[in-house]
Amino acid sequence: MAPLAPSAPLLVFGPRSTTYDFGPAHPLTPRRFGPGISLLEALGAEPNLAPEPASDAELEWVHEPAYLDVVKAFSGDPFAPGRAGIGPGDTPAFAGMHEASAAVAGGSLRAMEAILRGDALHAFHPGGGLHHAMPARGSGFCVYDDPALAIARARRDELRVLYLDLDVHHGDGVQAIHWSDPGVMTVSIHETGMALFPGTGFPDELGGGEARGTKVNLPLDPGTGERGWLPALELVLPALAEAFQPEVVVSQHGADAHAFDPLAHLRVTTTAMGAAARLIDSIAHRWAGGRWLATGGGGYDVYRVVPRAWAQVWLAANHAPVPGSTPPAWRERWAADAERFGQSPMPESFDDPPNAGLPYRVADEAADARAVRIAGEVLDLVLRTFTESRGSPEPGA
Ligand SMILES: [Zn+2]
Ligand SMILES: [Zn+2]
Repeated sequence: MAPLAPSAPLLVFGPRSTTYDFGPAHPLTPRRFGPGISLLEALGAEPNLAPEPASDAELEWVHEPAYLDVVKAFSGDPFAPGRAGIGPGDTPAFAGMHEASAAVAGGSLRAMEAILRGDALHAFHPGGGLHHAMPARGSGFCVYDDPALAIARARRDELRVLYLDLDVHHGDGVQAIHWSDPGVMTVSIHETGMALFPGTGFPDELGGGEARGTKVNLPLDPGTGERGWLPALELVLPALAEAFQPEVVVSQHGADAHAFDPLAHLRVTTTAMGAAARLIDSIAHRWAGGRWLATGGGGYDVYRVVPRAWAQVWLAANHAPVPGSTPPAWRERWAADAERFGQSPMPESFDDPPNAGLPYRVADEAADARAVRIAGEVLDLVLRTFTESRGSPEPGA
């Protein structure tokens, strides 16, 4: 396959990436890096920023010092009784948990620093996007909040940050951490909290104090597919970017909105995910001088979906066309594992067929129509709130 453009973006991946591991039965498995990174390599990518742990002082930009102490204690004694959101359940303790989690945070942080220095316009950190971590507790497979930390780094340079969260779950941690900062606009599109973890992300969550109107939520009904999800994004993202005028863009590309994902109920395709990534790239160039940090996120169909979702982000960040077919050698290499985990066959194309090849159901078409209507209502609400919280326009303006 032809090599990508010479000014390739940073690809954040290294030996520590696979140490963020809750064990063989956990859905967020480092097994995803095997088929995922090898597909990016087949596209000509080379990992060139290996994550190393962020320092305690850096982690404390977004987390309570006492929470770091809890994580470090679990790191040495993973069998201690659960606390601060860590323990039996979604976010179990494991030996070396602090170092592994701090390295995920460090990967996104160093990528942001490279972008701020101008060493790269775009960076992609597939192992990042741990958007549920809160200031003083772990949540939803997330220990330290790497997107929130990368945003905090850009805020130290007083840059206005637009955060776009495409994961099927609400980006609650990032929203909470930057809730009262008017210099951070967070936009999350997700399956409604009425049906899915973490149960938040409704349109009336608008931000605190002078930040009112900078926190944006698009909750979608179960069954919403690419014909609702993508038009909703196309309606709101350019308009919000124009209103907010970001100087840096950070995005989260959780692949769990896909129709095949076992943990959620949307019906998005890799085709739509690619179009969304290209839309985000265009927003970064139009408003933010091209400064764009993309992260991964959730995604639990790790052979059929996650690698192609990552490839769509990588191709968008390289301004490269989507190849007609996935590499046969890549499919052959992972076919037996995919079969073993019930995620067969390995897909032959990067783009999905319409509706991921599934039949259209009446209820899903209604969900698609509602998605676009909700997006319009949320956009009106946010633009009105955003304008009001900044005072009346200048006379004559
Ligand atoms: Zn670009
Ligand atoms: Zn998710």
